[in-house]
Amino acid sequence: MQQNDNCIFCKIVQRRIPCDKVYEDDSTLSFMDINPASEGHTLVIAKAHFASLLDIDEASLVAVAVASRRLARAIQAALQPDGMRVGQFNGAAAGQTVFHYHLHIIPVRAGQKVGSHGRTPGQPEAIRQVADKIRAALASPGSQDAAR
Ligand code: AMP
Ligand code: ZN
Repeated sequence: MQQNDNCIFCKIVQRRIPCDKVYEDDSTLSFMDINPASEGHTLVIAKAHFASLLDIDEASLVAVAVASRRLARAIQAALQPDGMRVGQFNGAAAGQTVFHYHLHIIPVRAGQKVGSHGRTPGQPEAIRQVADKIRAALASPGSQDAAR
């Protein structure tokens, strides 16, 4: 699997730096954003290093998309937001700050103003409590029912 020694997300994949992990499969890893734009802001990353949408391989791209649906359903079940933003940024000019392909999942409450990125660090304990709810929803078979 291709990795980049200078990439913070590769270091997370390699367990060289910690993260609040909520989900993992062979090709993807999902963890809480440390600067949450809203409660429950989650990142879904490819385990292999690809800088952006322009160079990610098809298998990883599909794997991230499939994982994002799993996470979105679990976040819906766990936090019951009124909506969710799912997006990503390519290139510094577009707002990308970590050059390792990832999707943002940002839960939104009706009337809530949220940016595309968190600007301030969240409280680790508050983030962990939200992550616990997402992990519990992922462990519940019902969280993946499309009807929910
Ligand atoms: P982007 O600007 O799309 O590249 O987003 C990068 C995101 O990664 C930002 O929302 C950061 O808050 C987040 N981030 C950076 N370092 C970490 C980390 N060590 N753990 C969790 N999230 C991180
Ligand atoms: Zn990387």
